[in-house]
Amino acid sequence: MKKYIAGVDIGGTNIKIGIFDSEKIELIDKVEFKTPKRDQNQSIFIHVKKEIESIIKSLKIKMEDLIGIGVAVPCPIKNGYVFACPNLDWSNIDIVKELHKIFPSDVKVAVSNDASLAALGENESLEIPYKNAVLITLGTGVGGGVVIDGNIHEGSMGYGGEIGHMRVYEEKELTCGCGSRGCLEQICGTHGILEYTKQLAKKNKTTIDLNKLSVKAVFDAAKDGDNVANQVIDRVAKYLAISSSILAMIVDPEIFIIGGGVSKAGSFLIDKIEKYYKTEARFSSGNIPFILANTGNDAGIIGAAHLVKNTIKRNEKTDA
Ligand SMILES: [Zn+2]
Repeated sequence: MKKYIAGVDIGGTNIKIGIFDSEKIELIDKVEFKTPKRDQNQSIFIHVKKEIESIIKSLKIKMEDLIGIGVAVPCPIKNGYVFACPNLDWSNIDIVKELHKIFPSDVKVAVSNDASLAALGENESLEIPYKNAVLITLGTGVGGGVVIDGNIHEGSMGYGGEIGHMRVYEEKELTCGCGSRGCLEQICGTHGILEYTKQLAKKNKTTIDLNKLSVKAVFDAAKDGDNVANQVIDRVAKYLAISSSILAMIVDPEIFIIGGGVSKAGSFLIDKIEKYYKTEARFSSGNIPFILANTGNDAGIIGAAHLVKNTIKRNEKTDA
């Protein structure tokens, strides 16, 4: 009898649910809806349950054939417990316990951070998944996740994979969203890219229209040979390379995966990162390749479903 797993990605704005078969983790159907704003300690879980019931009903899947629910959350989480969440009104809440309250007790529940699960999802979506992989997501913020021996690395407090807040340069004036200075995110996040472009454009000629400034416009100009744009993107690539070279000496991954909105710049960005990485990396880690993420916005739900599968497998091994 075919069994199924639900992968849930809870964001501050939207919640996405995917239904997967439990063997190959192939996406059968998905649904997306607005995150409820009130009483989030309860309402989110009630909504998720309602939507799962509705989607499996439309697929003619019985609740008893749903063997697990994997959930990606937008905050640090350890063993299913969230102390505080900047994107949701959650504090001191045990997500696993909350889900167990409303789903049948034999449904396996597994929960982790969304960026970590995106790393797992991206890696597992490769033709042959690697044992050790690092995902760096470039968007408004810089995030990421680390897969070690096929499992995501949460760390002792759930901060494992907070790549954007690695302090990689001397910053005297500007403060990062995390309250610190000199974070990778300050250079490679959207804000950092746009601010540095404006700064350079004050003293240098550029083809970029500053009234229509966007990250895409900077990349497009760089591809067309604009000097200011290339200085900005080179700085992004250089600091990503420095950060990756540090990660390589700790994680020793087989692959770096670059995702997030900024990664739409494609091979132009990857080539630049690899160029700097070769000079920054130590020992043979300079040979670790960089690839673009390819699951789009589904990485979180795919990773969440894989987390359930891995957890069930691990339990079977322990029980044997
Ligand atoms: Zn920071």
